[in-house]
Amino acid sequence: MIMKTLLSKGDAKVNTFIDSMRASSPTRPENQDQTPTWIFYHPSALKMFDEIVYNSRGKQIVTFLDYDGTLSPIVSDPDKAFMTEKMRATLKDIAMHFPTAIVSGRSVDKVYNFVQLKELYYAGSHGMDIRGPTKSRSHKKMNEGVLFQAASQFLPMMNEVYKILVEKTKSVKGAMVETNKFCLSVHFRCVDEKNWAALAEKVRLVLNEYPKLRITQGRKVLEIKPSIKWDKGKALEFVLESLGYNNSNNVFPIYIGDDRTDEDAFKVLSSRSLGIGILVSQIPKETNASYTLQDPSEVGPIIFLNQARLVRMMITRSERCPIPYLGPMTYYYINKRIFLKTKCNIFIGLRQRTRQRLFI
Ligand SMILES: [Mg+2]
Repeated sequence: MIMKTLLSKGDAKVNTFIDSMRASSPTRPENQDQTPTWIFYHPSALKMFDEIVYNSRGKQIVTFLDYDGTLSPIVSDPDKAFMTEKMRATLKDIAMHFPTAIVSGRSVDKVYNFVQLKELYYAGSHGMDIRGPTKSRSHKKMNEGVLFQAASQFLPMMNEVYKILVEKTKSVKGAMVETNKFCLSVHFRCVDEKNWAALAEKVRLVLNEYPKLRITQGRKVLEIKPSIKWDKGKALEFVLESLGYNNSNNVFPIYIGDDRTDEDAFKVLSSRSLGIGILVSQIPKETNASYTLQDPSEVGPIIFLNQARLVRMMITRSERCPIPYLGPMTYYYINKRIFLKTKCNIFIGLRQRTRQRLFI
């Protein structure tokens, strides 16, 4: 919306865009006085874990995860946004229990090279290029290969604009243009803040010649995409549909993301009262997500996903092979650990060793 105004009204609106980009920067301490109210309306997903699990009872959880800033830290060189081995192992475990999709602004090939798990769905280029798992998983027979490319006719134009943008922005120190097949990213993260307006203006001038393309703003990035009605929210709906959960109440999607582009997916979930959206952010932001994870980029999601995996494992095990002395299971989340309450009101803390003894 901001960029649409920018393109139509020219230079005067560049400053508006720059202000918006500054406000979305996670390093700025402003708005700290709003934090308690914001946390009240968007509580920590970790603290509300019991409620989330309760609401998902009887439903198939489907996990959607953004990549940059969610599974990997935001780094100055986008080619080095590696995820940890621990995160990869957690994702692999999660995918054994829940259908899991990575939804990223990057191309499918790039994000796959970072994640390297064949069990997952990949929705690259902001959902405009969706591929299914190439390795079967335990819970369901999956589709394979390319599932959907919403903007294939735009590919020659995107290649052309990429070359022009590389040429036009090379005079701005630190500017980087990245091609993600169906969308282009102009990175501001290594550009001195005083040069942001000049770089935005160069991009605006190039895009003036391509009315079929639009610009959206992310965290220290401008993204150029085909003007079609397709976004991460549409990609989420497409994946659910391909899993057979179109208009189904038996599904509980969990979407975790940190960026403005993830808001389209949060909006779909909140408007359909379906599952939950979790925003990864340390600062208050306007969001359609219900919950937040405020830990540094990767710590929150990994703890949350690990817990989700554990609880599902417990439920699965108890359904298959009831554990009599536990009785009806009630679990409590205390200080980042899960405790089970037995029918004798004994609390069992599930440390790694205990978990293995009880359930594996
Ligand atoms: Mg992100």
